[in-house]
Amino acid sequence: MTNPYIFTPPPQVSLPISGESAQYPVRRVYCVGRNYAEHAKEMGFSGREVPFFFSKPADALVPVAADQWGEVPYPSQTSNFHFEMELVVALGSGGKDLTVEQAEKCIYGYAAGLDMTRRDLQSECKKQGRPWEVGKAFDHSAPIGPIYPVADVEGIEKAAISLEVNGQVKQNSQISSLIWSIPESIAFLSGLFELKAGDLIFTGTPEGVGAVVKGDAMVGRIDGLAALQVRVI
Ligand code: MN
Repeated sequence: MTNPYIFTPPPQVSLPISGESAQYPVRRVYCVGRNYAEHAKEMGFSGREVPFFFSKPADALVPVAADQWGEVPYPSQTSNFHFEMELVVALGSGGKDLTVEQAEKCIYGYAAGLDMTRRDLQSECKKQGRPWEVGKAFDHSAPIGPIYPVADVEGIEKAAISLEVNGQVKQNSQISSLIWSIPESIAFLSGLFELKAGDLIFTGTPEGVGAVVKGDAMVGRIDGLAALQVRVI
């Protein structure tokens, strides 16, 4: 039999699931921009805009096990490498033009994630009216912990979300401070893209974003999920 491909296709990107031996296969990675009012303000906006989205390639994910330290290499061509601690939603089903109620039923589970950003390149993109990929969608830009099925996570909408760098608290907020709730963000996104099982949505970061350098240790926490521990190397 002849090989159908001229080279070996890249492997399916997947994430571990808490309490499950099978993995969660990832299709797309969407990210919500400016979804906490205080973060929108620190970036120079009013905090009242309709949600907007960007995406990262699935192979930008860096899976980090619950009790392990993940590693992210300091990326090229930046001198302002920022953390953005975020709640990530993993979809178990999808659709188009979903209502908020339908959107809620598509949620498979939750994970803790970092939307790592080359802020200087992103700022230049904004200034020049260029797309954000070089600032957001680079390799290793999305460390992420295991997925926790919805049934195992109680009251995520009231959870605290925080990030420490070298033991110092940098971000500290609540999921209840999201401008657009988790189902609202999914519903809105489904009007732009047909969503499917395997899609992840980084739901936005609270205020307090800042830079890390080589050697820094980040610990992200969301109530109900394991801490996400990542070192910049
Ligand atoms: Mn973000």
